[in-house]
Amino acid sequence: MKLVDLLVVAAHPDDEVATFGAIIPHSLVLGRTVAVACLTRQADLEIAAQRENELRASLHACGLPGEPVLGSFPDCGYVGPGRFESLAWVWERWGGRDAAKAYIASLYRRFRPRVVFAHHPETGEYGHPNHMAAGWACVDAWDELHAAGDPATPCKIYARSDAADAWHPDWFAPQPALDGRSPAELGAAALRCHRSQSCADAGIRPYLRYRTIRSRVGDDALRCDIFENCQTVEAPCAS
Ligand SMILES: [Zn+2]
Repeated sequence: MKLVDLLVVAAHPDDEVATFGAIIPHSLVLGRTVAVACLTRQADLEIAAQRENELRASLHACGLPGEPVLGSFPDCGYVGPGRFESLAWVWERWGGRDAAKAYIASLYRRFRPRVVFAHHPETGEYGHPNHMAAGWACVDAWDELHAAGDPATPCKIYARSDAADAWHPDWFAPQPALDGRSPAELGAAALRCHRSQSCADAGIRPYLRYRTIRSRVGDDALRCDIFENCQTVEAPCAS
């Protein structure tokens, strides 16, 4: 068991920055520990290897040592621009909703994350059913562990949101620990590692915001610290 502060659960290689912004370099610069899981794999072995190498390069650019956890749920459901198979279709190919829940529960037990960044189960951000399935797996596992009083239940799960009270950490500010670069600059460099993807040059989009979709420690009040309420003594946010 390796304890981490933050577990990022991406559906595909590139989501760790394309969906979750600069949360990895932002957390690392604060001295937080981070683990990244990527749930799906392409059926074509050559493409799968390429995308996993892009993911490794991306995490390196974020400043994260070590390997991601690579799942083997099939990358599936994309039909064409804006067109997707249904969530039920994906569950069938993923071996059922319970299989995905059990996999995520095993990650919660392995890493004991305080905070999880997950895809939004209802929106999949833009309707991608792999994102929805990944989001539901994170929520289903949380609900099961929480109901059982399991200490491996993360304090909070965040997901992308356009709600009025959604926010993002201040990851555009230059950091002395990064030689004056911002976490967002590292995130943009990480995204560029995904050369096979059309989003590679998009940078960290300023509209990316997040809110809790599960919490056992109450609501965020400060809206600057994803670890707010996750420990007894809170460090105040930098102004
Ligand atoms: Zn994705």
